[in-house]
Amino acid sequence: MKKKAIVIGSGAGGATAARELQGTYDVTILEAGRPFRPFTGNISLFEKFKWTGLFFDEREIKMLFPFMRIQKAADKMALVSGIGTGGTTTICTGNALRMDHDLKKMGIDLDPEFKQIYKEIPVSSAHQQHWKPVTRRLFEICKKMELNPLPTTKMGHYEKCTGCGRCVFGCPYGVKWDSRQFLNDAVSKGAQLITNCTVRNIVFENGKASGVMVKMGQKKVIFRADVIIVAAGGFGTPLILQNSGIPCESGLFVDPVLCVAAEWQNAGQNKQVSMPFIVQREHFMISPYFDYLSFFFNNNWRYPAGNILSLMIKLADTNTGSINNKKIYKKLTDQDKQQLRQAVELCTEIFSRLGVKKQNLFLGTLNAGHPGGMLPLTENERDSLHPAVLPENVWVADATLIPKSLGNPPIFTIIALAKRVSKNINNRN
Ligand SMILES: Cc1cc2nc3c(=O)[nH]c(=O)nc-3n(C[C@H](O)[C@H](O)[C@H](O)COP(=O)(O)OP(=O)(O)OC[C@H]3O[C@@H](n4cnc5c(N)ncnc54)[C@H](O)[C@@H]3O)c2cc1C
Ligand code: SF4
Repeated sequence: MKKKAIVIGSGAGGATAARELQGTYDVTILEAGRPFRPFTGNISLFEKFKWTGLFFDEREIKMLFPFMRIQKAADKMALVSGIGTGGTTTICTGNALRMDHDLKKMGIDLDPEFKQIYKEIPVSSAHQQHWKPVTRRLFEICKKMELNPLPTTKMGHYEKCTGCGRCVFGCPYGVKWDSRQFLNDAVSKGAQLITNCTVRNIVFENGKASGVMVKMGQKKVIFRADVIIVAAGGFGTPLILQNSGIPCESGLFVDPVLCVAAEWQNAGQNKQVSMPFIVQREHFMISPYFDYLSFFFNNNWRYPAGNILSLMIKLADTNTGSINNKKIYKKLTDQDKQQLRQAVELCTEIFSRLGVKKQNLFLGTLNAGHPGGMLPLTENERDSLHPAVLPENVWVADATLIPKSLGNPPIFTIIALAKRVSKNINNRN
């Protein structure tokens, strides 16, 4: 009889682990959310709603779109994650970047895993055909400023992208790759997927992890397994570990996002692929982005969606946050604030070259959606990828392992880590 493995979560890390482990193990995937469906409703209708003033708290987004969850950090930063099959990958903007240079410096060489990823997931920047004229102008301005803007490489079949701009609500055309494809591979190889199943904690018997306690509706149920892989994301995994008596570190990073925007007639950014190009700087990146969160919930965003032009700043923040008793503590440090100011200045300069005056710019809502870092890998674990605080048969396979903020799209790096973790588990079988 094959040994049993439980994978908690079906996002970037969980779906990858389930796919890699099924076969060697009999895998059961426990996912808190339900099967994901893209939002196909009329967004313009919600735009009309917005003017009624009924939208006032970002957490209300789940009433429009239940697969997006917003939590508030103690200092009010809006923290975004996906809940449902595919986790946060279903609401991502599809950016496919390899970001493992810091892991490499620690001696973790993920070259073989990335080679596999580029074979398994199509990557392209064919969305350029749908760029709006003002996006092309911004790109040229950034080039003239020697900021080296690059069209964003994205995961999926972007030659078929319609430029509808709904990426963060799930792609209705199946263009964008998300981790449900790995999940489907695992299930078609025999893995069992259980949705609406929230894991509370790991259960121990005779000093060994023997299963997990889950909440399904009002019922509490124990699922037993030989190996447990926790991949409930940067917010979910620390909670499960802490509920199980396994301490995490106060190393939470989230990659804060702030948009700098202006009124611009017929900008049409809301009807264009999200984040078409990227400018990389040392501590942040900049990319054109229509921010629905700010549009619906921030009173500064008072123009019609089609007439707003916005540049997103994504910051590599200091890893000093924590999660305790379900509360998330995450504040910008003085260093973060200084780097954010520099980024706002750079956006202001880009806008001024476009002809927009500083006094006509407005900011978006501070939010973030790349959590991780609470069980950071160290050089001691560069071969095993198994942090010493974990019991021998419990593993983590998600962003929680990343030692510090990438300030950049992490999905490919998480997938690579989850592949290596799975290889190590398979080798120990
Ligand atoms: C709006 C937005 C856009 C983004 N765009 C990009 C992008 O373009 N490119 C990129 O690389 N990254 C992007 N990201 C970030 C990326 O999506 C996440 O960093 C990545 O998906 C994290 O992977 P993960 O495996 O750590 O967690 P997740 O993908 O979040 O998966 C965690 C899963 O665990 C489940 N779960 C949580 N708690 C429990 C529990 N107790 N029991 C059972 N299941 C549980 C969740 O429902 C979820 O399915 C974006 C994020 C956001 C918010
Ligand atoms: S812009 Fe392209 S990738 Fe994004 S949702 Fe529309 S079709 Fe899908």
